[in-house]
Amino acid sequence: MANGLRTLEVDGVALELKVVRKRVKNINARLHGKTLSVSAPHRVSVRELDETIVELARKLVRRSRADALNSEGGAEALAQKIAARFPDPPEVNEVRFVTNQTSQWGSYSPQTGVVRLNAALRQMPPWVLEAVVAHELAHTFYLDHSPEFWELVRSVCSKTDRARAFLEGVTWLAGAWDHLPPVERWQLTGTNEANDHKDTEPRKAPQNETQRDRSDGSPQISLPFL
Ligand SMILES: [Zn+2]
Repeated sequence: MANGLRTLEVDGVALELKVVRKRVKNINARLHGKTLSVSAPHRVSVRELDETIVELARKLVRRSRADALNSEGGAEALAQKIAARFPDPPEVNEVRFVTNQTSQWGSYSPQTGVVRLNAALRQMPPWVLEAVVAHELAHTFYLDHSPEFWELVRSVCSKTDRARAFLEGVTWLAGAWDHLPPVERWQLTGTNEANDHKDTEPRKAPQNETQRDRSDGSPQISLPFL
């Protein structure tokens, strides 16, 4: 195989495999949904590469399962903690991160005790997720966004207003991203290194795909090749 595209089954999960040979030092593998992208140095043999890919794929699939469990379990504990702050605590039985709601950050069903959260919240600071949970739970008592509603939300989550501003910024950037000139994207994604020399020179664009991809939070493994 080694080059091109094929499928691979690991732990019962069918993955689409994309392998590219590059001038890289290590074999790098990144799992994004069901797609495993691998880059490998030219000198690694096909057999060696195939064995390594299976090993990396297994690790990444297991890690992404563990991450999903941890983050839903962690979010559930957090949601229950927030619920307990209400004068009349709503019941939280489950937290689900969903990818099928794009227009809202969360929802809550008092009938089932299920809190649904936009999966994008997992990558954000925990206090943002906390504020969204507080907001949704508060709708048990007020269906509207009246001053009384906001008073209740703020009483259980002090960072409510900050989180609202944060999410407004996220929404704005997500909508504007495709229209931003490249130079402004670099400015927004600038690294600390670039901040160190507050210079007059324009900053360099990201060097390669790997560097850019690191920030998206998808599981990634790099194996050194000696
Ligand atoms: Zn609302």
